[in-house]
Amino acid sequence: MKELKIFNSLTKTEESFVPINKKKIGMYVCGPTVYDYPHIGNARPLVIFDVLYRLLKKIYKSSTVTYVRNITDIDDKIIDSAKKSKESIEELTKKVATSFHLDCKYLNCLEPNFEPKATEHIQDMIRMIENLIMSKHAYENEKHVYFSVSSFKEYGKLSNKNSEQLIAGSRVEISKYKKDPLDFVLWKPSEENHPGWDSPWGRGRPGWHLECSVMGEKFLGKKFDIHGGGLDLIFPHHENEIAQSRCANKTDKFANYWIHNGFVTFNKEKMSKSIGNIVTINNLRKNFNGQVIRLALLNSHYKQPLDWNERLINESQNTLNKWYGQYEKLDLEEIDNDALNPLLEDLNTPKYITQLHSLYEESSKGNKSSKIKFIKACNFIGLLEENKKVWQDFKKSMIRVDENFISKKIKDRNNARKKGDYKLADVIRKELENNGVIIEDKQNQTEWKYK
Ligand SMILES: [Zn+2]
Repeated sequence: MKELKIFNSLTKTEESFVPINKKKIGMYVCGPTVYDYPHIGNARPLVIFDVLYRLLKKIYKSSTVTYVRNITDIDDKIIDSAKKSKESIEELTKKVATSFHLDCKYLNCLEPNFEPKATEHIQDMIRMIENLIMSKHAYENEKHVYFSVSSFKEYGKLSNKNSEQLIAGSRVEISKYKKDPLDFVLWKPSEENHPGWDSPWGRGRPGWHLECSVMGEKFLGKKFDIHGGGLDLIFPHHENEIAQSRCANKTDKFANYWIHNGFVTFNKEKMSKSIGNIVTINNLRKNFNGQVIRLALLNSHYKQPLDWNERLINESQNTLNKWYGQYEKLDLEEIDNDALNPLLEDLNTPKYITQLHSLYEESSKGNKSSKIKFIKACNFIGLLEENKKVWQDFKKSMIRVDENFISKKIKDRNNARKKGDYKLADVIRKELENNGVIIEDKQNQTEWKYK
């Protein structure tokens, strides 16, 4: 097998992946803050790092890879959101975490080996803060504890910014308890009606960045191989994780490879609550099979921005309608190493999908071995694994295609027939069929109905 190359955000170059210990590979990915239903922007890292996890397990043997993805269940966003929806914090976090787990299943993501919750590791967080205060990397001020950014010379290396740029371009929190505007919170006091834990600095709660530093170390050690997340986490979240962990553990690295996926827009616009254009995964669950969403997410390279729109979903739906024609359940068949090459090139999923298209063409010629090759390659990235009946039943209940689209296609088909181009007419009929529409020619008009 060729070696795995991966783009490292820390060095800004594509590098050969060399694990610290081949028999013990660690990957940490920042999980959701469970204050609201996860959206398509959150689905992207789930699916991308799931493919990377599958790939690492294939290269280094399953049992050697440890994948950790946390759940942030204490955060200001959660407190605010629970207040707005008049739910208890426990009700809210439980509800969203349950929905998140359904999302992961729906997207056919393998479960991580560990899924720690922040609230289960508060004592370790307190210990890390004490350590940072002792070594003068942190200070207390009226029940608040801050990390002193000036104490860590390499701060800004990941996001590639100097301190002026960091202050100018960031959403640094303003606070009278800080000595320096870039300093960030490790611990803060909790009001009486808010969740809080006893600590040497009074009753309070940890800062978000600290949670990941502590949980990463707890399950993967002071230094591990891969740390992943969305591009929006580079600053301040990941920059701060590095500062805390390296200063507390006195290491030269926190993770060796930092991998970030690009942003997701919706119809070329940024998704935001105020515009009201957030596509939540639990909403997609009602209208599409998860395989459709998974394929659509893998269609772009993970580093590129991804625009979510109807055309993308339709394309992915049509491709899978076609591919499921070749469906067969295989038992534990291993993929050929050669087929993995596009993924070894910095997880090039679009190239891998192009390869799937050609494997499909081969397999549809009726050759049994190419059919198996095609199915194995689909299964490897978590596609074509749905039972065929489940897939077909879902197709029937899926969202209806637009009626304007149908009438246009019928018009195109009739024009083709008038010109005697029966081949094209047939292609259009099949396309409609793939979209769940059946047409019938009656005397001099064409009628249609949903399947
Ligand atoms: Zn994190």
